[in-house]
Amino acid sequence: MTTLISNIATLVTNDPSLGRGPLGLVEDAAVVIDGDRVVWIGTTSQAPATDSHLDAEGRAVLPGFVDSHSHLVFAGDRTAEFNARMEGRAYSAGGIRTTVAATRAATDAELDAAVARYTAEALRQGTTTIETKSGYGLTVADEARALRVAARHTDEVTFLGAHIVPDEYADDPAGYVALVTGAMLDACAPHARWVDVFCERGAFDGDQARAILTAGRDRGLVPRVHANQLGPGPGVQLAVELDAASADHCTHLTDADVDALAGGRTVATLLPGAEFSTRSRYPDARRLLDAGVTVALSTDCNPGSSFTSSMPFCVALAVREMGMTPDEAVHAATAGGAAALRRTDIGRLRPGARADLVLLDAPSHVHLAYRPGVPLVRAVWRAGARVV
Ligand SMILES: [Zn+2]
Repeated sequence: MTTLISNIATLVTNDPSLGRGPLGLVEDAAVVIDGDRVVWIGTTSQAPATDSHLDAEGRAVLPGFVDSHSHLVFAGDRTAEFNARMEGRAYSAGGIRTTVAATRAATDAELDAAVARYTAEALRQGTTTIETKSGYGLTVADEARALRVAARHTDEVTFLGAHIVPDEYADDPAGYVALVTGAMLDACAPHARWVDVFCERGAFDGDQARAILTAGRDRGLVPRVHANQLGPGPGVQLAVELDAASADHCTHLTDADVDALAGGRTVATLLPGAEFSTRSRYPDARRLLDAGVTVALSTDCNPGSSFTSSMPFCVALAVREMGMTPDEAVHAATAGGAAALRRTDIGRLRPGARADLVLLDAPSHVHLAYRPGVPLVRAVWRAGARVV
């Protein structure tokens, strides 16, 4: 069953061999899908005959967004915390600990419904691949449960037992690291592809993070790191040293951090929803791009610091607040996210790629930044099936 989408005003392929510039832009373009794959890309006038046909009527098409960083397995509500922060009031409730308590108390069905809701919400906004993590269980059973729930909704599942040290280990953080690298890892490794650590002052230091990431790597998980979000620290350079797929946040970087990223293959994943929602300083994407670092954009969707599932919103923020051009932001939200997940089958539209496409109600991908907050996603295909 082949389908032709023709009369595409601007097609983003992210393959410079297929079109203009780093985005491989093709004007008056057409795409043919066969089953779950893209099989042909060219101009409308050259398009082959197919079983079915959709006229894009001068709209833009781009690869489905790849959101490589989210925290969707949670219960509870932190509206009051956000509201207090926006009112400039101190708020003493427990932050992540509030979510840990609510998540532990939730049923499997409640957690499953939450992940289903947020992944569906993301899909409606064009996200065809989403990574998500544990990290609000922080016991052997609760972390393994979170990963089992996540795996029902995505293949990109990350073990984040090292999110924070839970209250019951407050006086024994070394004991908690031993748990994470021991019984918790045993229970979680079969359900995850990635291992992650929140390497930050107040969470896990460089030595603890190294122990956790190498233990995960020894069990076949690939490292990724929450690094340098709240202040400078060892996270970014540790990520590069361990050949982590991604160093996420990268808000506070030294020149040595930037050099390390530029010299390795670790992607810098920027999460501007977090800075937006906490009124914090944004990362300097321009500095990373100018150094030759591969940059990804993701939502960091979580109930505390970035409760958005919208990649278009993050694209707009990246352009307005982080010095990225619209082309760079769209690339980071698609091909960049794919690189952060070490995937070559997604994030690009070329023959052989998975047929993950977004049709915008706009003539150009630039409108994602030019028209912020407007629901421009008109249709979405994932693995060749129209899902929106
Ligand atoms: Zn995160």
